[in-house]
Amino acid sequence: MSLAPWQQEPLERVLAAWRAGRLGHALLLCGPEGIGKRALALALAARLLCEGPAEGPPCGRCRACQLRQAGSHPDLHLLSFEEVPNSSPPRLRSELLVDQVRVATATAQMTAQRGGVQLLLIDPADALNPAAANALLKTLEEPSPGRYLLLLSARPQRLPATIRSRCQRIELALPAPPQALEWLLAQGHAAGPATAALAAADGHPGLADAWLREGGLALREATLRDWAAVAAGQRAALGVAQAWMAEPATVALRLRFVADAALALARSAAGGPATVPGLTAPTDLAKLVAWFDQLNRLRRQLAAPLKHELALAGLLAGWRHLPAPTETAR
Ligand SMILES: [Zn+2]
Repeated sequence: MSLAPWQQEPLERVLAAWRAGRLGHALLLCGPEGIGKRALALALAARLLCEGPAEGPPCGRCRACQLRQAGSHPDLHLLSFEEVPNSSPPRLRSELLVDQVRVATATAQMTAQRGGVQLLLIDPADALNPAAANALLKTLEEPSPGRYLLLLSARPQRLPATIRSRCQRIELALPAPPQALEWLLAQGHAAGPATAALAAADGHPGLADAWLREGGLALREATLRDWAAVAAGQRAALGVAQAWMAEPATVALRLRFVADAALALARSAAGGPATVPGLTAPTDLAKLVAWFDQLNRLRRQLAAPLKHELALAGLLAGWRHLPAPTETAR
């Protein structure tokens, strides 16, 4: 898969540093969720592992390229979420554990099996729990030639400062809107939906692309319509909550849409344009903040297999009780 311009540009910078012998042994790849950090890290790994000509893209024909494409290169390691043992339906852990770091770094301590470089990708690095981060720190403090650590994170501020300070930081920033739109059109999306998706995704082309492919825009519209109906007292909060929870795969995305829309409404209360049809911007900032806390708590809890209907119903009903501007106040 070819990289988008906003991935290609940082990749070129990293490769230039590598060719000049200035590449650090630990890189922290930062950027919003879905911007393509993993794709960038894998493209970098592909170039560093390739045993063909050193210039240009990886050759795709050498043994190293073939192993990598088959997902079995012995010197490319990925540390990410593991499945919770015996979970049914299968569920991933929400943090990276110290044993995972120990196994991965012990493997990386050994000589590269193909005699070239070794890479360990940690994604998302901010999910390392404190013991795991501590174990990783030891590896960071003992760099060894040809061994690279690639830490990927959308929330680098959650990483311990001791880890951040030992990494070279590479930022993947959102592209300018015209560039993002151009890329979406190149992915085969029509201009109208692409523009709408990009606006809904706050300028994030990766998200907009995913939503366009997976019906995210329609889900967003339906979500905001349900929410407005609860806010207007036309539908019961519990009924809407149950309907949303009946499709567990989409609940997290629905709550993201609610959070984004609530934020837009809060901005409109502060003088920005009104953005969500059927919903009014609340005026009591303290209560709005409390409501947001409730929403974010619920978003974090979704990973656990609990019944969330009541909490979600309470959240949806809660918006209705946030003070709205009165007619006389206008
Ligand atoms: Zn190759």
